Amino acid sequence: MTYEIACMACGASLYSGFDLKSPSDVLKSVDFKCRKCGVRLAPAKYLVEVRKLDGSFA
Ligand SMILES: [Zn+2]
Repeated sequence: MTYEIACMACGASLYSGFDLKSPSDVLKSVDFKCRKCGVRLAPAKYLVEVRKLDGSFA
């Protein structure tokens, strides 16, 4: 199982890996900004999406 945390504005992947990280940790590592679209990612609002990727995209 792979987890992905993605920007909800543009869908860019901010983190993906086998460890489920907390969104605030991931956001901190990217300076609370999406590297692709530049939107400000507020931890309080959780403008991120945690996806479980099992290869089916169902
Ligand atoms: Zn984005």
